[in-house]
Amino acid sequence: MTETLSTQLLIVGGGPGGYVAAIRAGQLGLDVTLVEADRLGGTCLIRGCIPSKALIHAADHFTAISRSSRHSYMGVSVHAAPEIDLAETVRWKDGVVDTLNNGVAGLLKRAKVRVLAGWARFINAKTCMVQTPSGPVSVTAEQVILATGSVPTELSSLPFGGPVISSTEALSLDHVPERLVIVGAGYIGLELGTAFRKLGAEVTIVEATGRMLPQYDRDLVRPIERWLKGAGVSVHLTAKARDLKTTPEGGATLTVESDSGAFRLHPDRVLVTVGRRPNTEGWGLEQIGLARQGPFVKVDDRCATSVEGVWAIGDLVGEPMLEHKAAAQGEMVAEIIAGKRRRFDPVSIAAVCFTQPEIVTAGLSPEEAQSQGLDFITAQFPYAANGRALSTGASEDGGFVRIVALKSDHRVLGLQAVGGHVAELAGEFALALEMGAVLEDIAGTIHVHPTLGEATHEVALRALGHAIHI
Ligand SMILES: Cc1cc2nc3c(=O)[nH]c(=O)nc-3n(C[C@H](O)[C@H](O)[C@H](O)COP(=O)(O)OP(=O)(O)OC[C@H]3O[C@@H](n4cnc5c(N)ncnc54)[C@H](O)[C@@H]3O)c2cc1C
Repeated sequence: MTETLSTQLLIVGGGPGGYVAAIRAGQLGLDVTLVEADRLGGTCLIRGCIPSKALIHAADHFTAISRSSRHSYMGVSVHAAPEIDLAETVRWKDGVVDTLNNGVAGLLKRAKVRVLAGWARFINAKTCMVQTPSGPVSVTAEQVILATGSVPTELSSLPFGGPVISSTEALSLDHVPERLVIVGAGYIGLELGTAFRKLGAEVTIVEATGRMLPQYDRDLVRPIERWLKGAGVSVHLTAKARDLKTTPEGGATLTVESDSGAFRLHPDRVLVTVGRRPNTEGWGLEQIGLARQGPFVKVDDRCATSVEGVWAIGDLVGEPMLEHKAAAQGEMVAEIIAGKRRRFDPVSIAAVCFTQPEIVTAGLSPEEAQSQGLDFITAQFPYAANGRALSTGASEDGGFVRIVALKSDHRVLGLQAVGGHVAELAGEFALALEMGAVLEDIAGTIHVHPTLGEATHEVALRALGHAIHI
């Protein structure tokens, strides 16, 4: 028998968009039902941001020990090469994921959110059926938030299965592949490729366009290219992975076509990271009658869809497909439904690429400021002139912090950096832009010594023409 349930707010998808919306709505006193088919935390927590950063951290730990086993580094040496038991690493990573997953469940409980485990399928805009372990439940709601996220894009020539894997499987392998081919040089492919190279895999990157990490300008990407070259990663640009043939013995031959002709690779795994697409299938989007914008669900600056009382957030509604955008939209929509006046109008959405070294960007690059016809000033401060970066090895792969500001009133338009651990600068970059800081605000803020943040201080001073440490 079908159980029926009426709720003020129904949220479909328990990723960072959906669960944050649910917690905020619960805090604001709404009666909330959250439906999640898999595990609370969504892509980010279960098979994305957190597991990938855990793997990257383990790979860095392995690299540091390997280095000291080859020669004394900082006076530290070890007398045997380290070994990696990837199955054990994955168990450790799963422990981190479990802790966070339990944490999300606890927070939802505290906010009095009703959680239904199961796949939701809409019958009309305000009613869906959920197949829960204890039977079907029909949920009718006054308001609906769609937060169904995204899924990896498959290549028709290389469908997932066998040796062809997506980032999800790459984060749960039981051993390090000997020869790993990565198809697609976006941030997910490069982050994972870098980690597997550090763990000992022979890594080859095949990218159809003429450059990797196309969302970042060349100056930011150069240190990553240098590291990949030094680490022996083969990168084939303007090359297309065409066809994979496997043998019964488990061997594989991948044919790649490039400008200079076709060639073959013999990977034991092919990781396809050619992008992600919004999850718009299998849950009755058509029954709701939502307008689309390309592959995404169309929303306005309040995340309202074309159907009254139906909202959509996160990866489902467009780029950038990032955790912090999904969470910010979730919080905002919960507040709008509870009666607050809000709009999604961030000055910037900062982004980090956790490669070796890392990249962080917020706001406009010089190229973007130029293309908008703005009259701007820009400056760079080398990471190697920062005491903290030097004393922790963070500047070993080079790097810099860069600022872009309007010439007229010095309002900061953009901040970017490349270098070890620059991800930690993201908060200050985003805050400066959101608060409408001018160069003098950053220059006039006393930054703690010795920290990487001092490079942000120095770059503002440099743009004003009086850096101290360069
Ligand atoms: C390998 C990898 C690394 C990443 N690293 C980063 C990073 O470092 N930083 C960053 O900001 N972002 C990162 N991302 C992107 C980030 O994971 C996403 O932007 C974020 O998870 C989007 O949140 P969301 O709530 O929109 O959707 P999701 O997290 O995808 O959650 C959607 C949820 O909805 C559920 N669902 C879907 N349909 C239904 C249905 N019909 N019924 C019930 N449940 C349903 C799904 O099971 C899923 O749990 C990474 C992604 C990947 C794959």
